[in-house]
Amino acid sequence: MDLSPILNPLNEAQREAVTAPLGPVLVLAGAGSGKTRVLTHRIVWVIQAEGASPHGILAVTFTNKAAGEMRGRVEQLLGVPGGGLWIGTFHGLAHRLLRLHWREAKLPQGFQILDSEDQQRLIKKLIRAQNLDEARWVPREVQWFINSNKDEGLRPQHLKDGSDPTRHQLIKLYTEYEVACARAGVVDFAELLLRAFELWRDNPELLAHYRRRFRHVLIDEFQDTNAIQYGWMKLLVGSEGYPFAVGDDDQSIYRWRGARVENLHQFRRDFPTSKLYRLEQNYRSTGAILSAANGLIANNSGRLGKNLWTSGERGDPIRLYAAFNERDEAEFVSHRIRDWVAHGGQRREIAILYRSNAQSRVFEEAFLSGRIPYKVYGGLRFFERAEIKDALAYLRLVSNRRDDQSFERVVNLPTRGIGAKSLDVVREYAKGAGCSLWEAAVACVGGGASLGPKAAVAMNGFLGLIERLAREVNGLALHEQVDHVLQSSGLIEHYKRDKADRGEARVENLDELVSAARGFTPEGMEGELPPLEAFLAHAVLESGEGQADAWEDCVQMMTLHTAKGLEFPMVFLSGMEDGLFPHQRSLNDIDGLEEERRLCYVGMTRAMKQLFLTYAEQRRLHGVDSYAMPSRFIKEVPEEFIEEVRPRIQVARPAAFTRMRSEEPLMPGMRLGGRVRHGKFGEGVILNVEGNGPTARVQVNFEQQGSKWMMVQYLEPL
Ligand code: ATP
Ligand code: MG
Repeated sequence: MDLSPILNPLNEAQREAVTAPLGPVLVLAGAGSGKTRVLTHRIVWVIQAEGASPHGILAVTFTNKAAGEMRGRVEQLLGVPGGGLWIGTFHGLAHRLLRLHWREAKLPQGFQILDSEDQQRLIKKLIRAQNLDEARWVPREVQWFINSNKDEGLRPQHLKDGSDPTRHQLIKLYTEYEVACARAGVVDFAELLLRAFELWRDNPELLAHYRRRFRHVLIDEFQDTNAIQYGWMKLLVGSEGYPFAVGDDDQSIYRWRGARVENLHQFRRDFPTSKLYRLEQNYRSTGAILSAANGLIANNSGRLGKNLWTSGERGDPIRLYAAFNERDEAEFVSHRIRDWVAHGGQRREIAILYRSNAQSRVFEEAFLSGRIPYKVYGGLRFFERAEIKDALAYLRLVSNRRDDQSFERVVNLPTRGIGAKSLDVVREYAKGAGCSLWEAAVACVGGGASLGPKAAVAMNGFLGLIERLAREVNGLALHEQVDHVLQSSGLIEHYKRDKADRGEARVENLDELVSAARGFTPEGMEGELPPLEAFLAHAVLESGEGQADAWEDCVQMMTLHTAKGLEFPMVFLSGMEDGLFPHQRSLNDIDGLEEERRLCYVGMTRAMKQLFLTYAEQRRLHGVDSYAMPSRFIKEVPEEFIEEVRPRIQVARPAAFTRMRSEEPLMPGMRLGGRVRHGKFGEGVILNVEGNGPTARVQVNFEQQGSKWMMVQYLEPL
């Protein structure tokens, strides 16, 4: 067999790793050195050179998008469809296993996935039901307690309260939360992993089956595995399997979510025969970008240490832009995008990266008004929009009546006369009987508890509606099912009537859901699940990924965390301000700060040709104005690789500009938007004003020096 297509596109070090003798392998290497390429080629190598079956391979990637790309690449190299391959994220693979073995996993067949927001809502409900003070028992913190314990493999019964009343209460909430989930037949994200782990741990025969089947277990981004993911991998590999892990300690960015970079060391201990490979040549970035990133990450301590070099050219310097506010930042980015496109570049080659999801909005506004197509990954997720969740709740109830979250969400939507009191009756009944809200409602309507006559009729109507929908959609194509449920549930009508609250946009989104269903193919899960269930699982697992039309050439927007593993010719790292990035929470914590620095390193090393760092001197975020210092990370990049971009005059005006134009002049001849001269800085335009009269401070955008705040008395009107 001709193995050259596998081996030719590799350098010597990569080739060694790809062709390593069967046994445990760890590849430790820096950004852009070809780790993902090596892992992909290794899959094809073991199939073609070692005679492994595609069914014997399980590969874990970091996102579903990465899984799709890897599958495509493997198929291309193999020259045949890689149907039997299990390639996916830890969550996706765990989900697939649990669907196949729901009985052994002690789950109802139609179990649903609870996303983070639903999880928080459920926790809130439990806190309220106990009459606990929400200010003291913050749902988000309780959620964190539950998830981080699950990530460590710990159930409530494993936890000791150490006579600490707070901890005691948290454990109690965790216990109740588990009961509520079991009753509703739902699992959260952390539960998917823990349940899949327990499934194998507690079913030795099943485990033995999978050990025989998956001899090759390959994991990308290994530095960000948490305890339960590591444990799951180790269970599967056993003493006979061949784990192949690739990672980079400098890119570990999920410590806050339980990731353990120590797993890199643990791997060496657990698999003492493992071979270690290092890759040192970076193929992604220009010399300037790589040196800048290397300079930054050198500020971290306790690194495993790696050399990373490129034979590529030095390229353009990293450009730094000081915007006067967040709108100016977005405007600047828009200009650069237009330039890029005008010179023949594509929009999809450009990524806007930010620390916090909320930053995307201003960019979105600028892009919308500038007619620049864009796509947001994560964050403003299609599947998380209220109307979409309403629609999904109907669909979920149709496929699983015991889904309490969904029941609560739509039992009175559109309004059908089921008030809070009636719901309380149903909830009480469910609590007493230990059953789902659906079952409780059935019992109440049947006279099991005193619902008012009107409410009983309304409730009966709702129960009948769901049952009817379930019958009617039977046998329809997936998108027809979705369409039918939307129409017959009254949701579309409901939003059409809703003139005030973006009703029209919501109806459009609901239509979009039908198209999403039409275009849906259950990747790698054909035939394992009814289409509707596969679609609902997909909605939770992949929310945000690929919500825009894949073919459209659009700018890619995402958080730094989401960008891991990806690469783009042109990258903007925006919001480079102390307090935003590095994040406020990390400023006083050395470990936290180092993790932020790794995040910055990840961001910079996404860039192939052009890298921009931008910050705003004044920023309004979450409705609060702040004046931050430029990020300390900017100063940590060796100066020789940075070039500051002078702001252009009049790129964007703060909203205050138009509002205040007609107001009194600050001083004779001087007003917002007017031109002024400074003895040292030269000429500029007044962009912002604080206070009034001769003591007012103004922000001036100087043609040569950029924008500065100063007392108005130092300026002379032009
Ligand atoms: P990250 O740490 O960001 O995940 P990585 O180590 O996984 O990066 P890859 O994404 O596999 O790196 O590779 C980076 C880029 O370099 C890709 O565009 C890849 O196609 C290219 N590349 C990798 N190896 C080679 C090679 N031997 N010759 C040419 N290009 C290569
Ligand atoms: Mg990679």
